Amino acid sequence: MGKKIIDKQFLFLQAGGELGAMTREFDWASTAVGPVGTWPQSLLCTVSTLLHAKAPMFLWWGNELTQFYNDAYRPSLGSSGKHPTALGQRGEECWPEIWPVIKPLIDQVMYKGEPVWVEDQLIPIYRNGHLEDVYWTFGYSCVLNDDGKAEGVLVICNETTEKIKALKELQLHHQNLENLVQQAPVGMCIMEGKDHVVTVANSLIVEIWGKPINEVMNRPIFEALPDAKGQGLEELINDVYQTGNPFSASERPVSLLRNGTTETVYQNFVYEPYRDVNGQIKGVIAITVNVTDQVIAKQHLEQSERELLETKQHLEQELEAGKQMQQRKDEFLSIASHELKTPLTSIKAFNQIMLRSNSLEQMHSFNKRSAENIHRLEKLISDLLDVTKINLGKISYNFETFDFGKMLEESINSLQQTTKHTLVLTESCNTPYTGDRIRLEQVISNLITNAVKYSPEANRVVISCKCEHEGLVVGIQDFGIGIAPADINRLFDRYYRVDNTSMRFEGLGLGLYITSEILNRHNGSFWIESEVGKGSIFHFRLPIASEKTAEVIMQTPTKYLSNTIRIAYDAENEWLDVDWTGYQNMDTVKQGCLLMLDYLSANTCTRVVNDNTRVMGNWSDAVDWVGEIWFPMMAKAGLKYFAHIFSPSTFSKLSAQKSIDIMAGIVTTQYFTEKELAEKWIASCPQ
Ligand code: ADP
Repeated sequence: MGKKIIDKQFLFLQAGGELGAMTREFDWASTAVGPVGTWPQSLLCTVSTLLHAKAPMFLWWGNELTQFYNDAYRPSLGSSGKHPTALGQRGEECWPEIWPVIKPLIDQVMYKGEPVWVEDQLIPIYRNGHLEDVYWTFGYSCVLNDDGKAEGVLVICNETTEKIKALKELQLHHQNLENLVQQAPVGMCIMEGKDHVVTVANSLIVEIWGKPINEVMNRPIFEALPDAKGQGLEELINDVYQTGNPFSASERPVSLLRNGTTETVYQNFVYEPYRDVNGQIKGVIAITVNVTDQVIAKQHLEQSERELLETKQHLEQELEAGKQMQQRKDEFLSIASHELKTPLTSIKAFNQIMLRSNSLEQMHSFNKRSAENIHRLEKLISDLLDVTKINLGKISYNFETFDFGKMLEESINSLQQTTKHTLVLTESCNTPYTGDRIRLEQVISNLITNAVKYSPEANRVVISCKCEHEGLVVGIQDFGIGIAPADINRLFDRYYRVDNTSMRFEGLGLGLYITSEILNRHNGSFWIESEVGKGSIFHFRLPIASEKTAEVIMQTPTKYLSNTIRIAYDAENEWLDVDWTGYQNMDTVKQGCLLMLDYLSANTCTRVVNDNTRVMGNWSDAVDWVGEIWFPMMAKAGLKYFAHIFSPSTFSKLSAQKSIDIMAGIVTTQYFTEKELAEKWIASCPQ
C-alpha cells in the first residue's frame, strides 16, 4: 500500500513546475480531499494532467470544491493576491467576489452534466491588492470519480484581458479618429471597403455633398452621390484603396446635385489610405476644402483682367484707327486741294489765253478744254457734297420705275462722248426696275469712269447686264492695272486709294464709297474680280423682287434640297456634305446654316464638307453672324472638323475666310479649292 503511495507521489514529482512542487508539498490531509495517498485514481490523473499542461487549468474537487491549478494559470491570480492561498483552498472561500456568478456554472456542470464554454467574459477578481476587471474565455467540464460520479470541475481557461484591452484601445482610437473628423475645420470622411461605404463624415463634408446626412451614412459613396459619378473620382478612390498611394488635387471642379440643382464645386482635396492595426488598407480617408468662392472670385478677376486687356487693346486699336483716319483725312485734304486747284488753274490759264487771242478757232478749242475742266471741278464738288450728305445721313433718294436696260444704254452712250475707250455693251436686259435712276446712273458712271481711268494702256471697257436669280447683275470689265488682293476688300472705304495708284491717277477716293452707299440703299451687293496687270471686273447686283428665302425642293431626315443649298448626310463616310448654290444674302445664309446645324445634330455628326464652288456674289453682311453665332452653335452640337471649299468669287472667299477665322481654334478648319482634296482630308480626320 505504502509503495503505491510513493509511486503516485512520484508521478507528481516528475514535473509540474512551481505548482507541481507546491502541490507535492501541500498538506492535503488538512483539506477535504485528504492526504494524497487516499486520492482516487481519477483525481490523481486529473491533477497530473493539469500540472503537466501548458494551458491554464484549474480544478475544483469534492464536496468543498477544493482547488488545484497549474503554473500557466498562476499569472491570472496576480502578483500579490490569491496565490498561493488558492491552492487547496475551498472554492467559495477563494472566490467570494464572484461566487454568485461561478457557482451556478459549477452546479450546471456537476449536477446536470452540461459543460460550459464562455468567451471574453468579464469576471472581476481580487488580485494585486485590489478588485480587477479580468476577462476570461473558459470551459468548465465535469471530472468523474472512480465510481463514474461527477466529483470535480476542470476549468480550462485563458485570460483575455489583454486582448479585450487592445480591442477597447482600438475602439478608443476609432472614437478619437471619429471625434477628430467631426471636429476638423475642413470636410472629412472615412469610406470603408471596396465599395467605399461612408462610415464617418463631418458636417462640413456633408454640406459640400448637399444631401441630408442620413442619405449618405453607411452607404457606398457613389450610390449615395450618383451625381459625383463619371468625373474620374471613382478611379482615384479605387486607386488609393488598392495601391495605398495618397492622392491630392487642387481647385478640382466636381459637379454635384446640391439641394436640387446641379452646381460646380471646386475643391482642394486629399485621399489617404485608412489602415487597420496590421497596416492593411481598410478604406480611404477624404479631406477636402470647398474653395468654390475663391475659384469663382479668381475667375472673375481673370475675366476682369481679360476684359481690361481687351478694352485696352480695343482703345489702342481705336486710337490707331483714329490716327490712320486722321492721317487719311490730312492726305485727303492735300489731295483734294490739289485736285480742286488743278482744273481751276487750267481754267484760269485758258481764260487768259482766250482774252488775248483773236482766233475764233483757238478760242473755241480753249473754251472746250475750259468746259472740260469745269465739268471735272463740278464732279469733284458734287462727290464731296455727296459724302457730306452720306455722313450726315441726309442723302435723299427718289424711287421710280424705269427700264434698267435702257438707262444703262443711255448712260454708256453719254459716257462714250467723254472717252476714247470703246465702251462695249455685250449683254443687256430691258427689265422694269424701281430705284433712284439718277443715283444708279452715278454708280454706272463711277464704275465706267474708273474702268477707263485705270486702264490707260487699253482701248475698251466691256459692260454686261444679266437678269438672273431674281436680280440684275451688272459687270464692268477693264483691261487695266488691276488690284492686288490685299486692297480689294478696302476699296469701298471712304478716302481709300491704293497707294501706288494715288500718285499716277487723279481722284479723291470717294467714288466707290458713294457707289457702295447707293447700292446698299437699293439692297444691292457688289464684288470685284481682279488680277494685277490684267484688269478688273466690278460687279453689282440689284434684287428685283423682294428677296425670297430658299424654296424647298426635297426634305428627308438625311437630305435637304432647295434652290440655294443641298445638304446630305453621307452615312457611309459619316460626314455632312453641303453644297451652296447661286447668290446668297443674309437670309439664305442664315437659313442654310441653321439647317446644317439641324442635320449635324440629328445625325450626330462631327465632320462637314462645305462646298462653296457654286456660290456667287458677296454675302459679307452675314459674316459676323456666321463667325460669332453659328460656328459656336455648331461646335456645341459636336462639329469638330470643317473642310471649306472656296468659291471662285473673291468676295465670297473673303467672307468665308473672315467667318471661319473668327472661329479659329475651336473647330479644326481647312480651306480647299478642290472638293476631292477636301474629302480626302476630312476622311483622315477622326470621328
Ligand atoms: P478714285 O478713283 O477717285 O481714287 P474711287 O473711290 O473711285 O476713287 O476708287 C478708289 C480706289 O480704287 C482708286 O484710288 C484705285 O486705287 C482703285 N480702283 C478703282 N477702280 C479701279 C479699277 N477699275 N482698276 C484698278 N483700280 C481701281
